[in-house]
Amino acid sequence: MAYLDHAASTPVRPEAAQAFTDALHLAGNPSSVHRHGQAARALVEDAREYLATVLGCEPIEIIFTSGGTESINLALVGLFRASVEKDAKRNRIIVPEAEHHATLDTVLWLQEHEGAVLEWIPVDSLGRIDVTELAETLERAGSAVALMTMLWANNEVGTIQPAAEVAALAAQHKVPLHIDAVSAFGHIPINFAQLREETGAEGATGLVAMSLSGHKFGSVPGVGLLIASRHAQLEPLIHGGGQQRGLRSGTLDAPAISSMAIAALMTDKGFAEQTRRLSTLRDLTISKIQELVPEAVLSGDRVNRLDNNVNFTFPGCQSDSLLFLLDAMGVSVSTGSACQAGVAQPSHVLLAMGYDEKGASSAIRVSLGHSTTEEELEEFFAALPEAYERARRAGTTS
Ligand code: PLP
Repeated sequence: MAYLDHAASTPVRPEAAQAFTDALHLAGNPSSVHRHGQAARALVEDAREYLATVLGCEPIEIIFTSGGTESINLALVGLFRASVEKDAKRNRIIVPEAEHHATLDTVLWLQEHEGAVLEWIPVDSLGRIDVTELAETLERAGSAVALMTMLWANNEVGTIQPAAEVAALAAQHKVPLHIDAVSAFGHIPINFAQLREETGAEGATGLVAMSLSGHKFGSVPGVGLLIASRHAQLEPLIHGGGQQRGLRSGTLDAPAISSMAIAALMTDKGFAEQTRRLSTLRDLTISKIQELVPEAVLSGDRVNRLDNNVNFTFPGCQSDSLLFLLDAMGVSVSTGSACQAGVAQPSHVLLAMGYDEKGASSAIRVSLGHSTTEEELEEFFAALPEAYERARRAGTTS
C-alpha cells in the first residue's frame, strides 16, 4: 500500500501521538484555578511557547482553533467585521482566484450576507498571483479595502507565491493581510515577526494574521491555530468564556494543542533534512511520470514549488477514474479538486490557471510527507501505466 496524499492529511507523528495520549490523563480544565486546572494550563502555555518559538511570533499572538478552516474564517470574517464597523465604506476584500475553498466560500458568504465587495486577482498559467494587477487594485481601491488574503503555497499545484512582495504591498497601502500558510508550514521557512518587519507592517496593517492546521504536519487532527498579531483588529466569531484574548472562547483542548506543539517542534527540527529528502523524491516522481506517460503535463511552477507536491494532467483521462483505478491497486493519491455529491468537479485552481474543463478534470496530485518511502513511490510507478491506459480507454465522459 502506498499513501501519497500527505497534502490532504499526513500521518500523526509518533511523538505527537504520545503527547496526546499522555495529556489525556490530565483531569483539569485549563481555565480552572485549582492545581489540576493549572497543570492543564501549564501544558497549553508550554505548547504556546514552543509554537511561538517555531513560528517567530509572540505566545499571546497564537489563537488555538479547530483547524485551518476555522482559522481562516476567524481571520477573514473577523477582519472584515472590524473594518466595516469602523468605516462602512471599507468593505472590499482582495482575494486571488486560486485560493482554497475555506477562503473562497468564506469571502463569497461575506459577499452574499454582509455586503463585502470582492476584488479578484487573477493567477497566471503556473498559478502565480498577478502582482501587477494586485498593485493596480490597491492603487485604485486601497482606502476601501477591509483586508487582503492569499495562500502562501497552492495546495493543489504547489506553486509558491511571492508572500513578501504581497505583504510589502499590503503594508504600503495600509491594508491588513491574512496568509493561509496551511500547506506552507514545514515546507517553507516561516517567521511571522521577521516577515512583518521586513515588509514594513505597522500596527493593524500589513501582515497581521496567518493560518495553520495541525493535521497537515503530523499532529492529531481537529486542531489548528491563527497567528493574530497583537495589533490586529478583528472580531471574534465564537462568544463565551473570553479565553484567548476573547477572540476564540471555549475550553482549550490541551491534549490536541500539546500534540500540535510537539508535531511543530519535530517538523522544525527536521526541516533542512526533510526538505532535501522530499525535493529529491519529488523530482524523481516528476521525471518518472514523464517517462512512463510522456503525454502527461506537469501543472504549477517547476521552480518555486512545494517540495512535496507533484500535480499532472493526464490528457484523455478523467481524474476520478485514475484515482479509483490507482486506489484499487493500493495507491492513494488525490484529484486535488472537489467532489460534490459524488459528482467530480473540474479543479477551480486549474480553471483559474487557464485550463479548459477537460484539462481541469484530468489532474492527479501526488503529495509526499515525513513517512514517504521510495518503496511507496515504486508501487505508484508500477501501477501508473496500467491505470493510465484503462482510464484513457474509459475516456473523459465516464
Ligand atoms: N487551506 C489549505 C491550503 C488547505 O490545504 C486546507 C486543507 O485542505 C485548509 C486550508 C483547511 O484546513 P483544515 O482541513 O484544517 O480545516
